[in-house]
Amino acid sequence: PYDVLIVGGGPAGAAAAVYAARKGIRVGVAAERFGGQTNDTMAIENYPSVQETDGPKFAAALEAQTRSYGVDIMNLQRADKIVPAAEAGGLTEVVLANGGTLKAKTVILSTGARWRNVNVPGEAEYKNKGVAYCPHCDGPLFKGKDVAVIGGGNSGIEAAIDLAGVVKYVTVIEFADQLKADAVLVKKLHSLPNVTVHTNAQTTEITGADGKVNGLKYKDRATGVEHHIALEGVFVQIGLVPNTEFLKGVVDLSKFGEIVVDSRGHTNVPGVFAAGDCTTVPYKQIVIAASEGSKAALSAFDHLIRH
Ligand code: FAD
Repeated sequence: PYDVLIVGGGPAGAAAAVYAARKGIRVGVAAERFGGQTNDTMAIENYPSVQETDGPKFAAALEAQTRSYGVDIMNLQRADKIVPAAEAGGLTEVVLANGGTLKAKTVILSTGARWRNVNVPGEAEYKNKGVAYCPHCDGPLFKGKDVAVIGGGNSGIEAAIDLAGVVKYVTVIEFADQLKADAVLVKKLHSLPNVTVHTNAQTTEITGADGKVNGLKYKDRATGVEHHIALEGVFVQIGLVPNTEFLKGVVDLSKFGEIVVDSRGHTNVPGVFAAGDCTTVPYKQIVIAASEGSKAALSAFDHLIRH
C-alpha cells in the first residue's frame, strides 16, 4: 500500500506529492490528466517568483519535479470511488475506472474543478483567444479593452466590478430578469461609470475573426430581438463545478459540491485529506492550490506518525 495516495495531479496534487515524498515515504498520484487546469492556461503571470510562463510549460515542470522524487505517477487514471478504512489506522481504497483498486494509509483528494460552459457557438473555438473564465488570471490581458461578463450571480458581479477597474468597458449579460448577486454587490456595480447590465438576455453566440473574439450576440428574451455587441473579451461566470461527484455520500461536501476541509486539510473521514479547487477553500488559484496541497501532505504525514 501507499503511505500517501493522491487523487488528482494538478498544482494541489503535485505539491502534495513533493511534500510527502520528501518525508521518505511511499507516494502515488492517480490523475485523469496530470497538470490539471494548468494545461488549458495560456499565460500564467501570478505565480510567485515566475514572471511569466504558459500552462503546458508549467504542467510539464510540475510533472518533472514530482517524478524527480520517485513518486509513482499513474496518469490517465480516473478514480470512481473511495472506500474509507474500516478501522482507525486501516487502509483506504481508491477504485479506478479501469477496475483496479489502490490501497493507502492516507489519501489526499485534489481533483480540482471545471468552469461551467455556456455552450454557445464560438465559446470553444475562442477559448483563450478572448473567451476567459478567471478574472484574477486573465483580467489584465484585457486592459483598455471592452469585455462582457456572462452571468449575474455573485461571481459574475464580482468579476464585473473587478474588471471595471482594469478594462475600458464591461457589459454584463444575465439570462434571468434580474441579477442574482448580493444587493451590496449590485449596488456597487451600479455605481460604476463603465458598466452596462442587460438582464433577460440570452447569449446566443460569441463571434470572432482572425482567430480572436470580436463580439457577442444575445437575444432579448422579452422582445425576441437579437443584438450584437462589439468587444474583445468574454468572461464566462456561470459557475465553477468541483470534480467531486464520485465522493457523494462518502466525504462531506458543501451545497456547491466542494469537499469540506478544516484549516489543515482534514475531511470528515479519518486519514482522508483534501486540497485545492475541489475544496471549500476560497479563491481558486494555482498558488493557493499548491499551498493547500503541501498543507494536506504535512497533515497526512502527521496522521501517519500517530498511527
Ligand atoms: P486542477 O488543476 O483542476 O487539477 C485536478 C486534477 O485532478 C487533474 O489532474 C485532473 O485530471 C484530476 N482529476 C479530476 N477528477 C479526477 C478523478 N475522479 N480521478 C483522478 N483524477 C481526477 N490560476 C492562477 O493562479 N493563475 C492563472 O493565470 C490561471 N489561469 C487559468 C486559466 C484557465 C483557462 C483556467 C481553467 C484556470 C486558471 N487558473 C489560474 C486556475 C488554476 O488553474 C486552478 O486554480 C488550479 O489548477 C487548481 O489546482 P488543483 O490542483 O486544485 O486542480
